Amino acid sequence: MNQAETQKLRKGMEELGTQELRNRVTNRHRLAGFLPGIPAFLIRTNQAEAHKRKKSFSEFLSFGLALFGLRISALLLLLAGCATAPTGSTLQRFEFQSPHMGTLFAITLYAPDSAAATNAAQAAFQRIAALDRMMTDYDPDSELMRLSRSPVGQPISVSPDLLAVLARSQQFAALSDGAFDVTIGPAVRLWRRARRTGELPAAAALQKASASVGWQHLHLDTARHTATLLAPNMQLDLGGIAKGYAADAALITLRAAGLPRALVAASGDLAIGEAPPNTHGWRVGIGVPDTTDTQLSRQLLLTNAAVSTSGDTEQFVEIAGRRYSHILDPHTGLGLTNRIQVSVIGRHTTDTDALATTLCVLGAERGLKLIEQVPHTAALVILQRGGQWEVLTSRRLPNITE
Ligand code: ADP
Ligand code: MG
Repeated sequence: MNQAETQKLRKGMEELGTQELRNRVTNRHRLAGFLPGIPAFLIRTNQAEAHKRKKSFSEFLSFGLALFGLRISALLLLLAGCATAPTGSTLQRFEFQSPHMGTLFAITLYAPDSAAATNAAQAAFQRIAALDRMMTDYDPDSELMRLSRSPVGQPISVSPDLLAVLARSQQFAALSDGAFDVTIGPAVRLWRRARRTGELPAAAALQKASASVGWQHLHLDTARHTATLLAPNMQLDLGGIAKGYAADAALITLRAAGLPRALVAASGDLAIGEAPPNTHGWRVGIGVPDTTDTQLSRQLLLTNAAVSTSGDTEQFVEIAGRRYSHILDPHTGLGLTNRIQVSVIGRHTTDTDALATTLCVLGAERGLKLIEQVPHTAALVILQRGGQWEVLTSRRLPNITE
């Protein structure tokens, strides 16, 4: 990215919203809204593809999902501003923000008027809040927590959203040989404590936790809509996938309200809908923040797509001079110590969220191999080797960048 490009991108970010949102969102993604005249596309669906996609979207919906994080029930709706849309269109741009799942969700959409925009955004935030209540592990009464406490071997009925998220999680667990694992909860709790105390978890505690971690200990029956825990003291943790699911769900809500030209951002996860009026897509920058090094960053123009970035740039604990990520290796129960940041681009944010976390655990080589097996998915991996940042991409990524 040259300097002019960077400046343009910054200007776009100015249009996006408040400083706080910018910090959170753009720490991992430079989101520039739209800049007209950019030729590159990620997944620009033609008519036939659009039809297929519609089908897969509704299939996806018929499952359902949700979350971890702080439980913030108050709905904070902020009309951050609007601008007149480019000539030839009567749509205006609106921006909204609301805290959920321990982060700030931001919606940017195009609508004919303020009432339509506000109603749709409100419905989308309500959907996210409901998923948050269901999937948080901070509230002992959430559906996720009740399931986590269920007796070993007893099938428990679960709601369509929770079942959808768990089913997708188990697919990624199988695909990654357990690198992604939502039964990681007991180990996550030890690492949260380590963050507070500044001391590594004791070996005995880690060993005890490891007996309750393992994706094979979770059995789902999608026909009967039940989940069964097969080991004692299990704790499910959807921190690696729920935000993505909620972002997808919010976009579906906006679409149902007749506003498909929208983008939902939840920290490192973006759910991207139809292009803004008179443009070819939403412009998204991925890579290391605040660098002008074109080797480390890519700019994408996206429609009907998803982007997620994971890494230890924001959440980590430093103990005895060693930096441990909030992403854990389920096979050891330890926080990752390799410095890595992964961006995954795909169709659904549920998938890209889980895959970005997965690739952090697998590392660049195994991770990129996995990405090549997942259709409609690409990845950009930035890792530190010998004090230097290196960038590696999947085969498909160069074709969708400029
Ligand atoms: P963020 O939530 O910061 O965007 P991620 O999407 O990578 O980051 O999710 C990290 C969260 O996922 C952790 O805080 C924890 O709750 C959970 N987690 C950690 N390690 C794993 C793992 N190996 N598999 C699945 N979930 C994980
Ligand atoms: Mg994730």
